[in-house]
Amino acid sequence: MEKMRSLDKVMKILIKEFGKHNKPTVRSTEKTTPFRTLISCLLSLRTQDKNTRRASENLFKVADTPEKIIKIPQKRLEKLIYSSGYYRNKARTIKHVSNVILKEYDGKVPKDFDRLLKIKGIGRKTANIVMSYGFGLSNYIAIDTHCHRIPNRIGWVKTKTPEQTEYEIKRILPKKYWYEFNTLFVLFGQNICKPINPLCYECPIEKYCKYPYKNLKNE
Ligand code: SF4
Repeated sequence: MEKMRSLDKVMKILIKEFGKHNKPTVRSTEKTTPFRTLISCLLSLRTQDKNTRRASENLFKVADTPEKIIKIPQKRLEKLIYSSGYYRNKARTIKHVSNVILKEYDGKVPKDFDRLLKIKGIGRKTANIVMSYGFGLSNYIAIDTHCHRIPNRIGWVKTKTPEQTEYEIKRILPKKYWYEFNTLFVLFGQNICKPINPLCYECPIEKYCKYPYKNLKNE
């Protein structure tokens, strides 16, 4: 009961602090389609949001459907998404995913978590992002590095992998918070509870956090 109350308090504080913050690119509302969400998410892997945004904007100016993407020569595609890093691999993945969607799903991103996962290049995080922010469904939670690290730090879960965290968070967190969980924890992780040197001295949820190595001095 105590833990439930603490979860509820933390979520309310994070909504207040970050609810109106600019959303990460994968959740951008501008001209959103499941396909755009999927491609932005593939571009976002292992890079910062500002790079994802630049690469997504460059690419979508030229092509934002699987039909258009498969027609772009590989080298040009690499150039368009260069700012996202790992651009050769990402370009190959984007082409492959576009091809599969075109050939097996009639050009439409499948609204089905398991089918998404079967496409090479799409992992659990990406599939969950597409189901949540591409299709607007509230029973999926995407776990990225922030969403895995922070619940472990603050003592909500004790897990070793993002997949375990996903199951545990779904078990303990009231469903009304599932949709916002990824966005709030990503923003919180980027701005306050950073991977190295978290800003505990200005953390709005410090009193609910059980992290033993809090950084409480602003040096
Ligand atoms: S007190 Fe520090 S470790 Fe705990 S949630 Fe806040 S920033 Fe993260």
